[in-house]
Amino acid sequence: MTANLLDYDLEGLAVFCERLGEKRFRAVQLFRWIHQKGASSFDDMSDLAKSLREKLRVCAHVKALDVISEHISSDGTIKWLFDVGGGDAVEAVFIPEEDRGTLCISSQAGCAVGCRFCSTGHQGFSRNLKTGEIVAQLWFAEHFLRKYLHRDDRVISNVVMMGMGEPLQNYSELVPALRVMLDDHGYGLSRRRVTVSTSGVVPMMDRLAQDCPVALAVSLHASNDVLRDNLVPLNRKYPIAELLDACNRYLAHAPRDFITFEYCMLDGVNDQPEHAHQLVRLVRQHSSGGVWCKFNLIPFNPFPESGLLRSPSERIQAFAKILSDAGIVTTIRKTRGDDIDAACGQLAGDVKDRTGVSERIARQRTFMLKPISTFNKETNGT
Ligand code: SAH
Ligand code: SF4
Repeated sequence: MTANLLDYDLEGLAVFCERLGEKRFRAVQLFRWIHQKGASSFDDMSDLAKSLREKLRVCAHVKALDVISEHISSDGTIKWLFDVGGGDAVEAVFIPEEDRGTLCISSQAGCAVGCRFCSTGHQGFSRNLKTGEIVAQLWFAEHFLRKYLHRDDRVISNVVMMGMGEPLQNYSELVPALRVMLDDHGYGLSRRRVTVSTSGVVPMMDRLAQDCPVALAVSLHASNDVLRDNLVPLNRKYPIAELLDACNRYLAHAPRDFITFEYCMLDGVNDQPEHAHQLVRLVRQHSSGGVWCKFNLIPFNPFPESGLLRSPSERIQAFAKILSDAGIVTTIRKTRGDDIDAACGQLAGDVKDRTGVSERIARQRTFMLKPISTFNKETNGT
């Protein structure tokens, strides 16, 4: 079987090299070629012994994902739809800002959690992505963007696991992917700039704290269990008090001294002043001194099947003020990439029920932009 080298963190690649009868340090060279230089053809890896390159050609490859489409928003946001086979597609979104470049990537095709306000959740669960499929989104985006923007240095400074899927329900494939992002021989991102967003898989939050503590965002969305049971069904398994305790335990290992709570603002559902006051009480009850969290209020991105609406902006402002006045740092997320449906919860998922992903893939291909096809040719050597 041909091994996909994007599936390995550096340790995994070292073991792979040893199995080929090669010294472990070869793995560092190989890893740097793949992740730092974006090479996918062993012929390009000029400082690897010819004998090794030949061995690799027989048993390994660097398997990228096929790009189905690319959309560029007027605000510079770029959204890619990747084919992961079997009629499934996942998305990644690049969000440029003055001081950073953030890539939002997917961890699963679909999602089993089934949150009411999320189109991925409505789509249902298809499958877990492999480590290599998670890494391939970053590999592609980073090296595409360097070419596209004519840059030699790193373009992506932050990665957020906020695309499709619940990353902590794909834990064993997620952790090696995070290690590739953090590795100095890989993308060299700091732990503070890699964020895992979770709907609250409590036992896996504890494991992540031990195995690979990166920045953590928790999708709270409700101020009491009755409401959260309804919006985020996983709450029935791990209710708010348990979730907040897990956040506190995570903090002892976290690269930042706070957890970010995401809170999607739903008109008439969770956006009333009493909800904000309830949140303040919750945070205080779970503080052992000082405020340990930040709130990020996300204006809901509506989609028809949800039957939900976005809170009006004045209500979002008023909600933010109650939290801020209580000493909790609160931001309101700017919506980006609206014109290309790249905002939270609008990722690829809205399609399966309507047309079937395969049909959409076929439809999207006709919109494929030129730079992508050119890039694919270059990187895949086809
Ligand atoms: N499964 C993880 C990560 C992916 S979702 C999680 O739930 O945290 C990333 C973020 O987008 C979450 O905070 C999620 O609640 C939010 N989101 C999902 N659908 C949304 C929508 N329609 N509008 C606004 N935010 C949404
Ligand atoms: Fe899954 Fe996150 Fe969407 Fe909930 S919000 S359905 S956990 S992707």
